[in-house]
Amino acid sequence: MENQSNFIKTIMEHDLETKKHDGIVTRFPPEPNGFLHIGHARAIITNFELAKAFGGYTNLRYDDTNPEKEDDVYVQAIKNDIKWLGYDPKAIYFASDYFDEMYERALVLIKKGLAYVDFQTAEEMGKNRGDVNSPGVNSPYRNTSVEENLKIFRDMKDGKYKEGECVLRAKIDMASPNMNMRDPAIYRIVYAHHHRQGDKWCIYPMYDYAHPLEDALEGITHSLCSLEFEDHRPLYDWVVRETEMPSIPRQIEFGRLNVENTVLSKRFLRALVENHKVSGWDDPRMPTVSGMRRRGYTPEAIRNFILSTGLSKVNSTVSADMLEASVRGDLQDRAGRVMGVIKPLKVTITNYPEDKIEYIDIPYHPEKEDMGSRKIAFSKHLYIEKDDFVLQKPNKKYKRLALGIEVRLFHAYFIKANEVKYDEDGNIIEILATYDVETKSGSGFNERKPNGTIHFVEATTAKKAQFNFYDSMLLNDESLDLMNRFNQDSLHVTHGYVESALADTLPEDKYQLIRVGYFNVDLASTKENLIFNEIVPLKSSYKK
Ligand code: ATP
Ligand code: MG
Repeated sequence: MENQSNFIKTIMEHDLETKKHDGIVTRFPPEPNGFLHIGHARAIITNFELAKAFGGYTNLRYDDTNPEKEDDVYVQAIKNDIKWLGYDPKAIYFASDYFDEMYERALVLIKKGLAYVDFQTAEEMGKNRGDVNSPGVNSPYRNTSVEENLKIFRDMKDGKYKEGECVLRAKIDMASPNMNMRDPAIYRIVYAHHHRQGDKWCIYPMYDYAHPLEDALEGITHSLCSLEFEDHRPLYDWVVRETEMPSIPRQIEFGRLNVENTVLSKRFLRALVENHKVSGWDDPRMPTVSGMRRRGYTPEAIRNFILSTGLSKVNSTVSADMLEASVRGDLQDRAGRVMGVIKPLKVTITNYPEDKIEYIDIPYHPEKEDMGSRKIAFSKHLYIEKDDFVLQKPNKKYKRLALGIEVRLFHAYFIKANEVKYDEDGNIIEILATYDVETKSGSGFNERKPNGTIHFVEATTAKKAQFNFYDSMLLNDESLDLMNRFNQDSLHVTHGYVESALADTLPEDKYQLIRVGYFNVDLASTKENLIFNEIVPLKSSYKK
């Protein structure tokens, strides 16, 4: 991949040099039973980038051989996520479209005496499989004649048997040290409605049989998969060979990507959605592609992160900080700097005229002129952050506002707090301050140094906004079972204001609220109800 060598690339180079293949064809084969997560992003990026590096191409293939859990909602979501990540499959296929061909290939196996229908119970089959230390026992059905097997398998297909009554097994070797080779089941009976095939089929191919055929049928040259399939490779090769597929794909395993304190299991993520622990698959706390998108992560940041983790033959776990750093690195150059106040406190500038509003032109980005500029307002009525004020300056390090203390307001003037107003409960609800007209930002004023610089918004023009802040979705305690590990306190909502330039901002626009963090405009945000999701805090984070 891009300036990066890895062991798979080396294999591909070799296969091209030796003319084993004249081009590289890969595929991404998700099962449409959930949304894609950051681990899938590794598989997607690996497949697409490698093929691209050699001028080849990548197919998207839905591995929909298991009718019970699959759904069209997932089919659409997966397609959208891949596109959003920046990849364009050459073709989109469904494994279920190959069911006829797979059935024919099973007949080939039966005719060669390499497959048989087994009527043992699941329990018997389990027992007779043996274990790593002892060989299995041949099934009493192992030597049924070819004619008999052909007939029974047809009957299986025609619905003459009950679920679980029998399976079609490959006849390989019940004594193999590799358990996967001990006459694995290749077809089972399932009476369920398939999302594309409807009720046409009641026999469904098992993954280990279906997958190699799918690859071979599409002319996939290199079938990349995660490490847990390593022991399945001999079976993969056996299926391709014995079904006499003209095209021979090669399976290569790579390490799974895990992120610290993050569970990447579709089953678990689905349970969170179904139990309403989160708002959906795209909840910004979810490690799904759509969740990261809603949170405000960019495809570039995800891609850079994946590429920076490298590709190895072993599973690896990386820290979530690494991903955050990549996101911050990407946003630094593309997010406009604006002002917003997440916990507002009213400030009245007592020596500023009541009816006056002045506007100051400020560029969106200090280094990116092409991002343009906007006007920010200043008047007698302002909001600052509640956390930027205390009555008494506590120590020398404190660089914010206090009574009798002067600070700079970003892009505007020095103000000095003189007095506060309280509500009936004794909470501070307003600061009375004075400004110094000489100190306007950019005027070159340098007679006094302010006690720090804080952000603000002008109160009469500011737009109300909701801010969502996130903590890790999981408690960092692996002794808890997964559902109890859900962090109930992982969403914090505040209501404040943003400067008026953001009145027309649209979902997915990204900003740095200076001194607060990077924010993404939420999908549900509207002109009347602006919603900002915290993407990542700034490096030295301002307190929430
Ligand atoms: P999960 O275990 O989360 O349910 P899965 O592996 O069952 O995921 P599939 O839809 O079968 O999900 O995955 C499609 C592809 O993505 C497979 O080739 C799989 O190897 C790869 N993949 C899934 N998770 C990871 C991961 N954490 N790291 C790298 N590749 C992954
Ligand atoms: Mg899987």
